[in-house]
Amino acid sequence: MNERHGIFIRVDVDESVRGDSKLAARLEEACPVDIYAVGDGGGVRIQDENLDECVLCRLCLDASPPGAVRVVKLYDGDAAL
Ligand code: SF4
Repeated sequence: MNERHGIFIRVDVDESVRGDSKLAARLEEACPVDIYAVGDGGGVRIQDENLDECVLCRLCLDASPPGAVRVVKLYDGDAAL
């Protein structure tokens, strides 16, 4: 089946922190709906299939340096959370 994910939410991870394994672990721990994972190479991996489960809790923003992660509300004119 060809499912579409990320229809309502997109998550942007800044290039400068994408390979940060400590940040990846913090994000994996913080997000209640498993949008973040530690990737095979140790960096931040976004789990596309979970994107639209985002509950807008901001825990990922709190767990990362300012500007490192953006949660974009595609349903709201691409407004950042
Ligand atoms: S706002 Fe909450 S649910 Fe959404 S990606 Fe961040 S931690 Fe996960």
